[in-house]
Amino acid sequence: MVQTDPVHRGRTVAGTTVAGMTTSTIAPGGSTAPPPVEMRRTPRRHAPLPRWWRDATAGAAWAVTLAVVALWVAGGGVQDLGSWAGALTSTGRLTGLVASALLLVQVLLMARVPWVEQAWGQDELARTHRLVGFTSFTLLLAHIVLITLGYAASSTRGVWGTAWDLVVTYPGMLLATAGTAALVMVVVTSVRRARRRLRYESWHLIHLYGYLGAGLVLPHQLWTGADFLDSTTATVFWWGLWATTAAAVLAFRVGLPAWRSLRSPIRVLDVRPEGPGATTVTVGGHGLRHLPARAGQFFQWRFLDGPGWSRAHPYSVSAAPDGRTLRLTAEHVGDGSARLATLRPGTRVLLEGPYGRLHGGVRTRRKVLLIGAGIGITPLRALLEDLPQGPGDVTVVHRVRSRDEAVLADELRALAAARGARYLQVEGHRIAGRASWLPSQAAHLSDRQALLDIVPDLADHDVFVCGNDGWMEAIRTAALEGGCPPDAIHRERFAY
Ligand SMILES: Cc1cc2nc3c(=O)[nH]c(=O)nc-3n(C[C@H](O)[C@H](O)[C@H](O)COP(=O)(O)OP(=O)(O)OC[C@H]3O[C@@H](n4cnc5c(N)ncnc54)[C@H](O)[C@@H]3O)c2cc1C
Repeated sequence: MVQTDPVHRGRTVAGTTVAGMTTSTIAPGGSTAPPPVEMRRTPRRHAPLPRWWRDATAGAAWAVTLAVVALWVAGGGVQDLGSWAGALTSTGRLTGLVASALLLVQVLLMARVPWVEQAWGQDELARTHRLVGFTSFTLLLAHIVLITLGYAASSTRGVWGTAWDLVVTYPGMLLATAGTAALVMVVVTSVRRARRRLRYESWHLIHLYGYLGAGLVLPHQLWTGADFLDSTTATVFWWGLWATTAAAVLAFRVGLPAWRSLRSPIRVLDVRPEGPGATTVTVGGHGLRHLPARAGQFFQWRFLDGPGWSRAHPYSVSAAPDGRTLRLTAEHVGDGSARLATLRPGTRVLLEGPYGRLHGGVRTRRKVLLIGAGIGITPLRALLEDLPQGPGDVTVVHRVRSRDEAVLADELRALAAARGARYLQVEGHRIAGRASWLPSQAAHLSDRQALLDIVPDLADHDVFVCGNDGWMEAIRTAALEGGCPPDAIHRERFAY
């Protein structure tokens, strides 16, 4: 394990013990002074969203669901429960209505609406989208079964005959069946085990069929759904919900990114290897002046460098946005990221974003711990550069397998020195058989104790974390045990 501490910048003193682990510390006056680093001009800030906005958006989703139930009640749903067949059909209608509302809510969750995205963060939205999606799908299946049984109960054709009748004779039902098939495909491929077996691109492409599914089930609601048409209120409500969802997707997933990227071209300015397995790419253009990007956030990047350009990749900004340039640093893990190394200056870039809540606006305290594993250090490097801070306010912990793999380490050291922050590298392989943020040399320590040894007043800190899921969870647990309140822990996941 290595610890470098640029607050006492200068000479390396080996053999110091921190957190019960042998470390080396940089002390004043030596020859290992960090290289100079260019400090960026921070552009005008955008006020963070107030905290109640998050509750308001969650409240809106619940209100939509309750409104659907209210419309069902107003449409005589409760009275219909009187008979066996009526009860089946009526609950079938209710499950179908709630399934539709949740289908639209889950599309809205991923519509990249800036205020929603800023209130929740994209990984939490993705988790909620998944939960809402599975709930909606379960209700959809219940709807199909209940309606079929309800109709069969008052028919002589039996269950299968009634099901066939429903599909072929009722308006819009063939389309709804095709839409359901598309939704089944999306759900099946999103089950974790199936998802792990699929390439990201394949899963993503199939997932887009969810929009088709949602679109295809609409006509049967319009043409046969009594709850859709019974009252003006119901018609206005449903049309409003569909129109809002479609407008949000078109505006924020298509229109806004296209407008931002096309109004003034953004191009690659510089491509630089970052050790053997990573690349730093800097892009620039007038369009960036108006982009409300903050250090710690990420964009979906598309580089127009040939076939395959249409697939976007999410990368965090690895330097504080200055209104003129944006910079990413990416590890080569597959075709898309490895290709960054071959980019040429002048290549056009399409950007979607900024997204994410890992920025200074969510900070609640003066003191900050920035802790990242591997390539997860990139947004934290930008935050170190950007966060207003006094000497000793910020501590950066960089968890790496080996010193050679510590991407951006020189920059971090130099920035920390310039800003009066502490920079520590925690080096070594994982502890086998234990979910821990520590390396194997520190297996004798508890996660909490090691964190407190590095930052004794942890409870007075905001903790910004980025790394793989298991590692971030270990940090979160240790930080909570160390006295950090949950709302002072901020995370960014590098995978959905
Ligand atoms: C919010 C966020 C910020 C990120 N920031 C950085 C960063 O600053 N630096 C960095 O090196 N990496 C970052 N990543 C990870 C990076 O997006 C993936 O490593 C990259 O997209 C892999 O693409 P590939 O074609 O090289 O690899 P593949 O072999 O195609 O994919 C490897 C894995 O990367 C993930 N992945 C692939 N494509 C996407 C995609 N379009 N969207 C989401 N996940 C994908 C999947 O989990 C996949 O299993 C970030 C990811 C997220 C979600």
